[in-house]
Amino acid sequence: MTTHHSPTVALLGLGSMGAALAQATLSAGHPTVVWNRTARRAEALTAAGATAAATPEAALESADVVIACLLDPASVRETLEVASGAVAGRTIVNLTSGTPEEGRALAAWVRAQGGRYVDGAIMAVPEQIGTTTGFILLSGDVEAAEQHRSLLEQFAPLHVLGEDAGAAEEHNLALLGTGYGALTGFLHATALMRAAGVPATQFAVLAQTWLGGIAEFMTDLAGEIDRRDYAGGASSVTINRLAIDHITHHSVAQGVDPAPHASLKELLDAHEAKGLGAESFAGLVESLSTNRHG
Ligand code: NAP
Repeated sequence: MTTHHSPTVALLGLGSMGAALAQATLSAGHPTVVWNRTARRAEALTAAGATAAATPEAALESADVVIACLLDPASVRETLEVASGAVAGRTIVNLTSGTPEEGRALAAWVRAQGGRYVDGAIMAVPEQIGTTTGFILLSGDVEAAEQHRSLLEQFAPLHVLGEDAGAAEEHNLALLGTGYGALTGFLHATALMRAAGVPATQFAVLAQTWLGGIAEFMTDLAGEIDRRDYAGGASSVTINRLAIDHITHHSVAQGVDPAPHASLKELLDAHEAKGLGAESFAGLVESLSTNRHG
């Protein structure tokens, strides 16, 4: 292990995200060693001051902290296995997306080799690396994460979630799901707007303002969910069932597929059928938590 004042960083993976991370460590003045399965992808970075390693093992051997940003956890495992002799004593920060179980399995493997493991999820696109508009979720070896905080903060603001190596991916998947719900609704809405002759760019301005209000409303819903008290909500299941019925009928009339809202309609209908139409919209979480595990 080297003893530079500024820790030497090895980057495994120079795809869209890995290249952005490598560029950020170079810009922050860290000695940066890069490795990519397809070697030519390292050329732009070596021209910018990085050192190319011929193998994953050579990359690990030259570094204090190793950042992996590959396709998926299987490719991370494959790459680290080739370098397993060099894992001991090093910190592996895995910024590759996967499932919580895969994060925990990699953590156990790295620890078994004598290394320290931090799992991370990047909540940003490559263009946002080096800015404060996205963020990074970290979990696993918190001491190692804190030791390398100033390095990792060069990428994006950090949220450290505790010792469970699966926690970063638990939160990542929940946040991605929240975003996909909103974006699926947005895509459906733009199809309706197109049918009405309204350009998507014009509609997006209204949608962004509306989603700001929705984001604030989440605080109320979250309080009801944590208290498991759905008696006093501001927006009932029946009111929302009527709204979804309107959307569904209007979509069909306009020749737009109402499918993006079908699962919500199913939940609202089932909740009402149980006699719970007066409950808050937040009460649907109880159906989601119970019905789907049978
Ligand atoms: P990408 O551009 O497709 O790059 C994939 C990288 O993985 C390449 O370096 C590729 O090497 C390497 N790779 C694939 N299979 C491999 C294997 N079996 N062994 C070794 N290396 C292998 O992907 P990306 O956009 O950089 O994404 C990387 C990670 O960042 C993913 O987990 C992704 O979910 C996460 N992320 C991406 C974004 C984004 O907007 N791009 C945002 C948040 C998180 P070759 O060059 O040899 O093919």
